[in-house]
Amino acid sequence: MIKEFEIKTQKKYEMIDVTEKIQKIVSDINEGICLVYVPHATASVIINENYDPNICTDVINFLKEKIPEGKWLHDKVDGNAAAHIKSAILGPSETIPVRDGKLLLGTWQAIMIADWDGPKTRKVIVQVVECT
Ligand code: ZN
Repeated sequence: MIKEFEIKTQKKYEMIDVTEKIQKIVSDINEGICLVYVPHATASVIINENYDPNICTDVINFLKEKIPEGKWLHDKVDGNAAAHIKSAILGPSETIPVRDGKLLLGTWQAIMIADWDGPKTRKVIVQVVECT
């Protein structure tokens, strides 16, 4: 099964928690594997804590500091090389096991879409493979 939905980011750097949306998609799955994927070169899928939103801010600030803007070859094309680098390092997908209709996330884990070049409309593709 493949499902898609869109999210709209409001800022250049932003993380949006999509855990509830993904949880609804897998709610009828007995046992399986859930792939969450973004078909974008300047966004990422991340699993981490969102109970304290400061962690998202800390991750964003860390990456902004370590991967500064405006010093890369690709900036001559469209000025967003730093976003491509962040996306390349963090990757476009995460895979989560599913059992009894539930994502097997830890207590402090949430699934977030990270935009490194917003604001934009971002497509999220969720593929669930059911084990029989
Ligand atoms: Zn680019």
